[in-house]
Amino acid sequence: MTGREGRPRRILVAGGAGFVGGHLCARLLADGHSVLCVDNLSTGRPRNLDGFAETGRFDFVEADIVDGLAITDPLDAIVNLASPASPPDYLSAPIETLRTGSAGTLALLELARAAGARLVQASTSEVYGDPLTHPQTEEYWGNVNPIGPRAVYDESKRFGEAACAAFAREYGTNCGIVRIFNTYGPGMRTDDGRLVPNLIMQALAGEPLTIHGSGEQTRSLCYVEDTVDALVRMLERVHLGPVNVGNPVELSVRQVATLIKELTGSASSLKFVPTMIDDPRRRKPVIELAERELGWWPRTELRAGLRKTIAFFAREREALRR
Ligand code: NAD
Repeated sequence: MTGREGRPRRILVAGGAGFVGGHLCARLLADGHSVLCVDNLSTGRPRNLDGFAETGRFDFVEADIVDGLAITDPLDAIVNLASPASPPDYLSAPIETLRTGSAGTLALLELARAAGARLVQASTSEVYGDPLTHPQTEEYWGNVNPIGPRAVYDESKRFGEAACAAFAREYGTNCGIVRIFNTYGPGMRTDDGRLVPNLIMQALAGEPLTIHGSGEQTRSLCYVEDTVDALVRMLERVHLGPVNVGNPVELSVRQVATLIKELTGSASSLKFVPTMIDDPRRRKPVIELAERELGWWPRTELRAGLRKTIAFFAREREALRR
């Protein structure tokens, strides 16, 4: 579907002003498409969209997907990234998170149905909860605490998957579900509260690196341009999924902290604090389906991705100090 290979398309990116969204809009514009970004700027930032208007193929609408979108222009595809994604963000806006994942997703599905557009839904590895099988394949149904504080995110994403599957079954809507595992890279907010920004900002400041629990819990970190490439490939297919998108290289949080310490040249110590409620103990995707269906696997080696991310946060830190 890339503009280089096929005809340019008109693509709506909901949540396009966020971290992943900014990179996705940039990629779609570079591929020759026109992009309509819809975002309520709750966790996203206009600066993630800098320079896009100059292409003449980019429009931004500040709106909440929960309110429904009165869009009558032709649309070829929709990518639904709209949702708070970092734990501090969704824990501080629990009801909005549920509404966005439920009413918001339904509104976009109705739009996709009316427009005859493909809808790619950004789901998450959090649908696996604290997994009882390891590593996680798409067949695993998950182990989520439905009434814990994190459920507002996990269950709204599970609802989003159910809604896509139902629209595909009932109306033949062309939906695709992507289960994204931890993604990092330039463009994340310094105060976003996720593992990589926290550790890098602490390392750059020479402060102790905070580790929740023993640090033996694992994460799989995927560089943002790789995640975006998977979303673009999913747009090109007619496949419901769900498809895992993540880096199968599994590292303990302690190993991630030690690597960031090394790459920043920081003398920071590690500081162990109490574990977070319902924090998953292990995360590692099986990506055979993505390899087979999308021809996708992460290309960016962790050290290379972290170096670029550290350089970005160093610039952010300088700007904050000015
Ligand atoms: P982000 O918070 O940076 O971006 C989300 C964007 O959605 C923001 O721009 C926000 O303003 C917008 N938004 C939120 N609610 C909205 C609403 N009701 N109407 C319109 N816009 C709304 O998060 P991100 O890291 O870029 O994540 C993007 C998507 O990918 C999310 O759906 C997230 O659940 C999913 N995801 C991300 C990761 C990751 O590691 N980054 C992992 C798994 C899944």
